[in-house]
Amino acid sequence: MTEKAHIVGDGLAGTWFARLLDSRQLDFLCFGNGKTNTPPVAFVHLFQGRTFRRHEQELTAFRSCIEFWRGSEFSQEWSVLRKTTPGDRLQRSAHDHNVPEEFAPKPQGNDLFAYRPGFTVRAKDLTKFWRESFGNKFQEQTVEIGDLSGPVVYASGLGIEELLPNLRWDTNPGRTVRARCREHPARQPEHLVIAKGFHLGGNPGEEGFTVGGRVNSKGEAKNDETQLAEEWLKEGVEMCSQWWGERIANALDRFPIIGWLDEKAFVFAGFGGRALFWLPFCAPLAVEAYLEGSNESLPTALSIERFRNLL
Ligand SMILES: Cc1cc2nc3c(=O)[nH]c(=O)nc-3n(C[C@H](O)[C@H](O)[C@H](O)COP(=O)(O)OP(=O)(O)OC[C@H]3O[C@@H](n4cnc5c(N)ncnc54)[C@H](O)[C@@H]3O)c2cc1C
Repeated sequence: MTEKAHIVGDGLAGTWFARLLDSRQLDFLCFGNGKTNTPPVAFVHLFQGRTFRRHEQELTAFRSCIEFWRGSEFSQEWSVLRKTTPGDRLQRSAHDHNVPEEFAPKPQGNDLFAYRPGFTVRAKDLTKFWRESFGNKFQEQTVEIGDLSGPVVYASGLGIEELLPNLRWDTNPGRTVRARCREHPARQPEHLVIAKGFHLGGNPGEEGFTVGGRVNSKGEAKNDETQLAEEWLKEGVEMCSQWWGERIANALDRFPIIGWLDEKAFVFAGFGGRALFWLPFCAPLAVEAYLEGSNESLPTALSIERFRNLL
């Protein structure tokens, strides 16, 4: 692919893609309107969802993830403490997982399991840093895609539903809360803590911590983040700020969708609640497929080709 790439999207996916082109001195223009769904601080670990069993692709991706986030100035590494409920699927799968021993959940008593590594990441700062490094190759505007000549990379977040309306999509609102202990504002939790619908982890390089909150079926905040944090930290907690966004994943397998839709459109979207988990692995693969002008090198579990007959 020798023509200039037009990347639509200023979130994690678009800026990651642009950064890889930039590092190879390839020409691109990246567009975005600032409405990204990138939380200020977000979490990375292997076991999203209700089971400790993992798809082979997730294990491969996680190795890239560790390589990328370990030691990054934007991240901090933690061990993870995961709360289960007696007899639930998560707890049962802790004894019947399919992951290498180094990542396996270890029982801690009290329905808790520990595993490592996990990371908290200053995600918003990272995208800002990359956008600024692009100089005039980044343009802050809502772009009319029809006006663009040449190939377009759709890293458009929620906008992907418009490009691929025949796929079923799951869009979920959520909020993250920045908080701190009233008496000890600098205090950070010792672990990344995950319980039902809730994440708690120290802010990398900053005081306090972030709580990934819970919403009810109407998408309203349950507003229990400080209370949940108090239960873990055993002291008074105050909220400093909140951030709202929406996650989008395809409803069939919830894995990202990568690849050429047709000669003009390259899709790089559908990262759900796990862009920071998938992107260290997916972004280099996507750029290779983009430059080759073909989807052949993409793993089936991530390629747009797996849905070709539905598009
Ligand atoms: C509450 C919440 C908590 C989360 N927690 C985590 C977490 O802990 N760990 C994790 O890994 N992930 C987390 N995520 C998910 C993660 O943030 C998303 O997967 C990620 O932001 C998706 O990035 P993206 O670049 O694909 O899309 P987006 O961030 O949505 O970026 C797409 C951008 O492109 C812009 N755009 C679209 N069309 C156009 C156009 N025509 N012209 C100009 N601009 C356009 C959009 O407006 C938007 O700014 C969370 C998300 C939410 C909402």
